[in-house]
Amino acid sequence: MIPTKPHAALLASPGLGHLIPMVELANRLITHHDFHVTIFVVTMEPTASNKPIDLLPKQPYTSPTLYNLVVLPYVDSSAQMSPSDKIMTRLAIMMRGYVPSLRAELGSMKHNPTLLVVDLFGTEFLSLADEFDMVKYVYIPSNAWFLAMTICVPLLDKQAKHVGPLNIPGCKRVEYDDILDPIFDPENKDYDAYVRIALDLGTADGVLVNTWEHLESKTLFSLKNNKILREIFNKRVYPVGPLVRPVSLDYLGGELLEWLDDQPKESVLYVSFGSGGTLSSQQTTELAWGLEMSQQRFIWVLRPHIEHDGAGALFHAMDGQGQIISQYLPHGFLTRTHNLGKVIPMWAPQTEILAHKSIGGFLSHCGWNSTLESLVNGVPIIAWPLYAEQNMNAALVEEELGVVIRPKVLPTKGVLGREEIKKMIIKVMEDDDGIKMRVRAKEVQKYAKEAFTIEGSTLKSFSEIANTCENRLTDQRAKASI
Ligand code: UDP
Repeated sequence: MIPTKPHAALLASPGLGHLIPMVELANRLITHHDFHVTIFVVTMEPTASNKPIDLLPKQPYTSPTLYNLVVLPYVDSSAQMSPSDKIMTRLAIMMRGYVPSLRAELGSMKHNPTLLVVDLFGTEFLSLADEFDMVKYVYIPSNAWFLAMTICVPLLDKQAKHVGPLNIPGCKRVEYDDILDPIFDPENKDYDAYVRIALDLGTADGVLVNTWEHLESKTLFSLKNNKILREIFNKRVYPVGPLVRPVSLDYLGGELLEWLDDQPKESVLYVSFGSGGTLSSQQTTELAWGLEMSQQRFIWVLRPHIEHDGAGALFHAMDGQGQIISQYLPHGFLTRTHNLGKVIPMWAPQTEILAHKSIGGFLSHCGWNSTLESLVNGVPIIAWPLYAEQNMNAALVEEELGVVIRPKVLPTKGVLGREEIKKMIIKVMEDDDGIKMRVRAKEVQKYAKEAFTIEGSTLKSFSEIANTCENRLTDQRAKASI
């Protein structure tokens, strides 16, 4: 049946870092453009809950009754993988196994879907949009610079190992240390997976990026006008950001809110490494000492060390100041820092914490969602990138906005020592540099809000997307009536 309003099917690849941005995109399409939305979720494990809501962290996600959340039944692709395959290759193989399930779902929907949106790992599903006469977009919950780099990857010389910075026509170059791992090793299958994604992007009707004009005007201009870039990628790029989860301070509730309310304005450092980031035991110890030696107030979302990853569930079940947690920290840390900070196991209501007036800095792995959540709240960042494009995110926000400090040695290349950690914390929380960064961060916050005004890039993008879908619906109705 042709629906009365556009029906968007959004596909999220495994991981909360992929699901959360899709949920925010859904919320925007529903509340501002009156779309009907179904989010399809791919899980990595047979044991994952079938209740979609269990996949989301226990936070006030806009009422799940607003959209449909469908977990695609688990498909086992392990036979197609080899033990040496790395994350991108594994994701690509696994996602491919779900194409038939999504096809079946799309074919059995009561209301014909109008729009298919996939993320970076779902580009192989774009051909389904042609089968069902849908508009097709890729949503990259990252920045335009990352998109520009990605579309240039097929131009690299596969015969040669990459050395030196990466030049992107019309855009800021990517410094050697910030380049994504797969690019360094053309013999690795991840390289091929990445090239395929880059080529697939060109088969979409457009690409949505979680950025806005003021943040990346030069890159967005080049993606639209640079001759070399246009020759390899001539699709529309829609800046739709900053799309971040709306804050509900009530949710903070109880003890944590009371504690934050009692702290002086902008005096607390929030420490977190995204939805899955973990540190080694040695690095956790150094961080704990760095925090303690800085004598700054803090909230630290602590995870089991990389070496003890499987301990997550038990760890999660424990109270924040419990015995299990103390085993992961230097002896006596919790007692000595009792009046200074809070250690929260596994997961915290991050957007709410960052929006609280007592927060003055964020020690972050610089995942793009975390980075944006910091920027929209005017909070400066201590960058601690761990993987994926996080080094690039840190570089972008440092060089373009001046609201980030980065350690001398990249955390991806070695252990950061307690002295340096202490210095970085004091610099952001107490020094003049930190005060200046905070002033700049407040300016960024203002520009981020402007993206959603009538003249703003984000509102314009969403209006265009909505118009394109309305036009497709009109065509479908016309065809159906013939
Ligand atoms: N997040 C959260 N609480 C936590 C850790 C993470 O709410 O304790 C959320 C965070 O607010 C962000 C997302 O998880 O929206 C993490 O996304 P990001 O892109 O920063 O990093 P990733 O997890 O993809 O590495």
